[in-house]
Amino acid sequence: MTFYLLGTGAAVSDPHRTTTMFVVEEAERLILVDCGGDALQRMLAVGLDPSKLDAVILTHEHPDHISGYPLLIEKLWLFGRRRPIPVYGPAQTLDVARTLFQAFSTDRWDGLPDRIHNPVALEPDSDVLKTEHLTITASQVDHPVPTIGLRFENSAGEVLAYSCDTAKSPAVVELGRNADVLIHEATGSIAHVHSSPEEAAETAAEAGAKRLILVHLPPALAEDDLADARKNFEQTEYGEELGSYGIG
Ligand SMILES: [Zn+2]
Ligand SMILES: [Zn+2]
Repeated sequence: MTFYLLGTGAAVSDPHRTTTMFVVEEAERLILVDCGGDALQRMLAVGLDPSKLDAVILTHEHPDHISGYPLLIEKLWLFGRRRPIPVYGPAQTLDVARTLFQAFSTDRWDGLPDRIHNPVALEPDSDVLKTEHLTITASQVDHPVPTIGLRFENSAGEVLAYSCDTAKSPAVVELGRNADVLIHEATGSIAHVHSSPEEAAETAAEAGAKRLILVHLPPALAEDDLADARKNFEQTEYGEELGSYGIG
């Protein structure tokens, strides 16, 4: 399994970071998680072929996660995409995405691919998507709107987990159980909204994860914050903008 951090910033971040979104690649299938910016441009920037995009997962309705959705669909269409685009996410998130897209007049976009919406339940360990090589499950995390964290497990047993936007949450401990990599947000601690690097590191330690990558990063990151997080979990690092990471 390989993943590409298309963006690693919070809604407000350093100038070189865009909003947090990433692509998971497994057996030549590409799955995009969130599109709060120009996801397709970022896919090109990391050398991915957008025509291979198989599915989009929208984790929640906040603009820094889905405001680029109409742009993504337009660009895929202009790139020649005609086959339908499967889109997964909480029902409320999909409703917002649909409303966003419908704000634009697309009557004359010949061949515009259908968007196939697949609501994800908010119960723990809900099914998102299962292919021959990859199983994706979701659980609701602790954020002000319905929001899902994710767990990707391939047939070789490699596991990638993603907290999404959340305060420190036991749901993420379960999603990240024995994960090879946990991608966790580190915006700064706000009750029932966001987590600090230190809290993300506590979660990684409780989950028994092997490596922690911090994303959704605010401006002016302090090395002190990373040092504090490493007291809880040694294998902690800041996500690299446009970085690619192999598991296994
Ligand atoms: Zn959010
Ligand atoms: Zn966010």
